[in-house]
Amino acid sequence: MRNMPNHIVVIGGGITGLTAAYELNKRAARENRPLRVTLIEREPRLGGAVRTLRQDGFVIEQGPDSFLSRKPETLLLARELGLEEQLVGLNPDAARSYMYRNGRLQPLPEGLSMGIPTRVLPFLGTGLLSYRAKARAALDLVLPRRTALGDEPLGGLIGRRMGREVADGLVGPILAGIYAGDVHKLSTAATFPQLLSLESRHRSLILGMLASKRMPKSPVHGRTGPELPPRLRGSLFLTFSSGLGALVERLTEELVCQGTVIRQETSASAISPAGESGSAYRVTLSDGAELHADAVILAVPAHTAAMLLKGRSRSLNRCLASIQGVSVANVALGLDGRRLRAPLRGSGFVAPRGSGLRITACTWTSVKWPHTAPPGKLLLRAYLGHAGDEIHCGHGDDALTAAVLEDLGRILGEELRPDFSVVSRHPAAMPQYECGHLERLHGMESELLAQWPNVVLAGKSYRGTGMPDCIRQGMDAAEKIRLR
Ligand SMILES: Cc1cc2nc3c(=O)[nH]c(=O)nc-3n(C[C@H](O)[C@H](O)[C@H](O)COP(=O)(O)OP(=O)(O)OC[C@H]3O[C@@H](n4cnc5c(N)ncnc54)[C@H](O)[C@@H]3O)c2cc1C
Repeated sequence: MRNMPNHIVVIGGGITGLTAAYELNKRAARENRPLRVTLIEREPRLGGAVRTLRQDGFVIEQGPDSFLSRKPETLLLARELGLEEQLVGLNPDAARSYMYRNGRLQPLPEGLSMGIPTRVLPFLGTGLLSYRAKARAALDLVLPRRTALGDEPLGGLIGRRMGREVADGLVGPILAGIYAGDVHKLSTAATFPQLLSLESRHRSLILGMLASKRMPKSPVHGRTGPELPPRLRGSLFLTFSSGLGALVERLTEELVCQGTVIRQETSASAISPAGESGSAYRVTLSDGAELHADAVILAVPAHTAAMLLKGRSRSLNRCLASIQGVSVANVALGLDGRRLRAPLRGSGFVAPRGSGLRITACTWTSVKWPHTAPPGKLLLRAYLGHAGDEIHCGHGDDALTAAVLEDLGRILGEELRPDFSVVSRHPAAMPQYECGHLERLHGMESELLAQWPNVVLAGKSYRGTGMPDCIRQGMDAAEKIRLR
């Protein structure tokens, strides 16, 4: 047994699983251990939510369109994979964002940081809030800090410090919108933990945010990213000139070189103890095959992990299944720029709940990222669906496109006649980290260690949904596996 190479099965070929498989191979090479890695992916294509369509000079993202530059993991990976030259920053002329309110687009006040105002005049001048709401928000400067410890819903914290109107009308659409979530259910500790520490350290969110802006930036999660070339410094988000799919393609090439066996269009359907076979687990696949594994990385959504781990611990399964995913969709529209008379200001807008629109946001993609459309053309992308509204799932592509065109026509004041539209659906794709998420996760991880040693959970359902968070979890999962 000692000389047999470890066999690790990674289930799920999204960005988390791809990173985990890549890092496992790197680790084996570093530690000079023989290792076999098999990656199982249900779909015919790899990348999960990360999907880039390239057609007629357009770069159309069907899932994520960029990643936070402040979190180093994507940059570290991009550098290693030789993609650094392809990095692109935001168009600085499209820095402003808008919100649809009272039938028109209004600019978000300058100086918002995680939705918290850090500049007085733009906040006082915004038409997005009533005078009463602005006065209530100022109470944050004098209110005492919360004495209770622990997690709190995002809307609870903002509402308590700055008032309900700010929570529902400003911070909710901006912050909860990233998770397609409900601001009154999302866990602050799991989504924006910085807000909890601002209150505990500085009492006031506004004063704390001002103080933290003056502090030098420290490494995120203990990793320091590579120095960015000057042309990219100051860009909050980054992407690649040929789209985020480039990362998936390069990772796949590397995995093939490293000798990873990749099985696409194959689902894992169960994991069970392997009995006397010498390995720890038996992974059953949808084609009836069985793989013997020393360890398994579950880089699939939590509800799938619950299904795969059925049988050993009811509480673990219940907890995993309780992390719900909201279904979202988006519609990309390609247009001839000469046909649109209305100016496209800023980078796009968000639409709060109750705005009367069916879309939740729209990005003027080719204004924000000029490389995404050929000269003279425009690319827009509108988003549908959030917690409490998944109606779009029941509609066909033509109906979704028609709804988007109607909403945008109303906002821009003219009928849009796109050259093409691309509808992308992401069923149950946005995990909802409800209040208490991190505590439940801690319990699940202890239970997993006791009942399923050397099975590791990683990915969007657990410790962050953004691409850098998923890449970090893939890296960490590879380190957590115990090799013989
Ligand atoms: C529309 C949208 C926009 C987003 N925008 C951004 C953004 O701009 N910036 C950002 O940083 N993040 C963004 N995100 C979040 C980020 O893209 C995702 O959270 C991340 O890509 C998830 O990666 P993952 O590998 O954990 O999961 P997934 O991408 O969901 O991958 C899981 C994989 O597991 C496979 N699978 C499932 N069940 C099985 C099974 N039984 N057997 C085998 N395989 C299975 C699936 O087919 C899938 O490929 C966005 C997400 C969405 C949906």
